[in-house]
Amino acid sequence: MLLNKFCGYSLPVRFEPTELTPQELELQRGARAFLRDALPQGSYEPGLGMDSGRDAAFSQQLAKYGWIGVAIPTEYGGRNGTAVDRFVITEELLRSGAPVTHHWVADRQTAPLLLKFGTEEQKRRFLPAIASAEISFCIGMSEHEAGSDLTAVRTSATRTDGGWLLNGTKVWTSNAMDSDWFVILCRTGTDPDDRHAGLSQFLVDLRTEGVTRSPIPFLDPSTHFAEVLLDNVLVPDDCVLGVIGQGWVQNTNELAYERGGPDRWLSTYGLVEAFIREYPEEAKAEQPAQVIGEIVAKYWALRRLSLSVARSIDRKEAPAAESALVKEMGTRFEQDVIIALQCLLDVEPRSTSASVFERLLSRAILSGPSFTIRGGTIEILRSVAMKGLVL
Ligand SMILES: Cc1cc2nc3c(=O)[nH]c(=O)nc-3n(C[C@H](O)[C@H](O)[C@H](O)COP(=O)(O)OP(=O)(O)OC[C@H]3O[C@@H](n4cnc5c(N)ncnc54)[C@H](O)[C@@H]3O)c2cc1C
Repeated sequence: MLLNKFCGYSLPVRFEPTELTPQELELQRGARAFLRDALPQGSYEPGLGMDSGRDAAFSQQLAKYGWIGVAIPTEYGGRNGTAVDRFVITEELLRSGAPVTHHWVADRQTAPLLLKFGTEEQKRRFLPAIASAEISFCIGMSEHEAGSDLTAVRTSATRTDGGWLLNGTKVWTSNAMDSDWFVILCRTGTDPDDRHAGLSQFLVDLRTEGVTRSPIPFLDPSTHFAEVLLDNVLVPDDCVLGVIGQGWVQNTNELAYERGGPDRWLSTYGLVEAFIREYPEEAKAEQPAQVIGEIVAKYWALRRLSLSVARSIDRKEAPAAESALVKEMGTRFEQDVIIALQCLLDVEPRSTSASVFERLLSRAILSGPSFTIRGGTIEILRSVAMKGLVL
């Protein structure tokens, strides 16, 4: 589907129809069989999407089967697969509510970023450790005055002997308390008239002297994210990622990896399954059947769009506008699912309930509002899609 004219605007948005090949379906069967063995139903607490929980041992078990670092070349410890292979495995992990948080960011965006912009030495140092789930990464973009508008980033990196000195504060850094490293966006230029040109990315070990991580309580009230203070943090030259001054372009690439995948429309899938499993009779009644039918139709449509984005990445295209559209529609849908299911049952969900559905629902109600904010708000995504650019 090519939508190239809309109200007189030229929109370079392309969603090519695509299906899984027999080899990809085989991979899907393998992932399902693995999850049936590794996580039998009832043996673990299912979670919601990428925030399902942190279990380094489980991530390392996945890595042994080659389910992490799927698209990393074999010379760097990966499987040398495609973005669609990663899509297939990701979809199965999210559908089952598996604890994927430990490896999520590194696998989804740090690895492709390193492959595209990292030095040979950085690839050899970090990619095998990511593919084996030995190290975890988080994302150091947002600041108090720079969320949607990353050109307002003020955390500075100034030249010093043998490296760079970082000073500033990052905020809303998901999983910063438990992660090993982060990729941070800093200001290296001083020209106030060119806020795009003066940005650069660095790889920072979160245990470096001068880094202070302070948890920010979330609504539920886990400590999902944190504030990260950097006080004269020395980053050696070999941890500059890409080119000094090219941070804006590199960060734009990183955001494209962050959007458009199954994690942007499957966060509440487990809720639907738990509802059908726990209320089989109620689910068959006319009104719930209508609601579930509509939900299934939307899963199907979103899945096709998202799969098409993965195929486009494999063609070495840059589907920034398409990814933004998938995230805009996908995350709003994830929230609609919560409301639709809440309306079907007269229950006050408790996080301590014996019912999986109730536990998931209570968590979804508290975390659902963040789905349309994290990774770019819906207003920003609409703007990206409209311009066919990544802001
Ligand atoms: C659960 C969660 C996890 C997160 N994890 C991370 C993380 O790991 N790393 C990280 O760096 N950040 C993270 N963030 C931060 C997130 O990326 C920002 O919250 C988001 O980009 C919005 O920035 P802001 O909060 O500063 O809001 P603002 O940019 O101040 O926006 C406030 C409102 O104004 C609207 N708005 C802003 N600019 C425009 C515009 N130009 N046009 C129209 N409307 C506009 C926005 O859509 C929004 O509704 C996370 C956030 C959440 C909620």
